[in-house]
Amino acid sequence: MPLPKAELHLHIEGTLEPELAFELAARNGVRLPYADTDALREAYRFADLQSFLNLYYELMAVLRTEDDFADLANAYLARAAAQGVRHAEIFFDPQAHVARGVPMGTVVEGLWRALGESEANHGVSTRLIMCFLRDESAESALLTLEAARPYLDRITGIGLDSAEVGHPPAKFREVYEAAAALGLRRVAHAGEEGPPEYITQALDVLGVERVDHGLRCVEDPALVERLVRERIPLTLCPLSNVRLRAVDTLADHPLPAMLEAGLLCTVNSDDPAYFGGYAGDNFAAVHESLGLTRDRLRELARNSFLASFLEDDEERRARYLAEVDAYEFGDDVS
Ligand SMILES: [Zn+2]
Repeated sequence: MPLPKAELHLHIEGTLEPELAFELAARNGVRLPYADTDALREAYRFADLQSFLNLYYELMAVLRTEDDFADLANAYLARAAAQGVRHAEIFFDPQAHVARGVPMGTVVEGLWRALGESEANHGVSTRLIMCFLRDESAESALLTLEAARPYLDRITGIGLDSAEVGHPPAKFREVYEAAAALGLRRVAHAGEEGPPEYITQALDVLGVERVDHGLRCVEDPALVERLVRERIPLTLCPLSNVRLRAVDTLADHPLPAMLEAGLLCTVNSDDPAYFGGYAGDNFAAVHESLGLTRDRLRELARNSFLASFLEDDEERRARYLAEVDAYEFGDDVS
């Protein structure tokens, strides 16, 4: 029985395992430029964020129908549940699908078929967060928010992802203001490859409540102090940071120092099919490579629920926190 945890930084498109990619390709008559699943796994070796994104967008071609999105989400939820995830706040990238001719409604309804029954089928509560691609225009983000209006009862918040450098948060001020007016929660990727100033902008210009990654805050002591003081959660993704070369090895990851500094850190999987592990795998990896104690792992699990968008269900949050407090570690620390 793994440590109960929430996953707060998870791109549903990044959970597409090679086996499911081939299955969906066959179902939809899409030809993938790889001989088999082994050849596709071989392609999962990236030099940097951009080379990962190129493959990530290429493979999305297999996602066409509501069934595809429901199957994708169900596969993730089953894997996450097996690794102790009790609550998942799931990102999706509608622009990447709409640009291929897949309507917003197909994406949201398909995902919702899995998310709406996730508690019954997997024992995992969920929230859905719609991300804008920051390398697309601000106008495109506004149009995407407009297209999502019929589905806002299923969408808890908005986020900002994809290629970071050269696309500062401030570019998206208008759409974040519009989303806030609609009552949507706000998060954004910042400080993964981009500089610490992007984190400050995400907070001050976009009004984000959580920072996704935020790793590079450690370069700015005043920013760290602010994040601690304001209790801003950071959704760190250690295995992702290694695969995308944000750190050289996991042993170089600043997570222990960040916890020591009092930052509200959480550990997540980002794009687990591509980065070598789901939420529990990330917990096990930081335990092994960074020597984090079981008390620290419990703190990370507590943080994940504290940082969750469960304000509409505080009773549930309290129940999850009680599960973390009561958890007894066995040999398996994940
Ligand atoms: Zn991410």
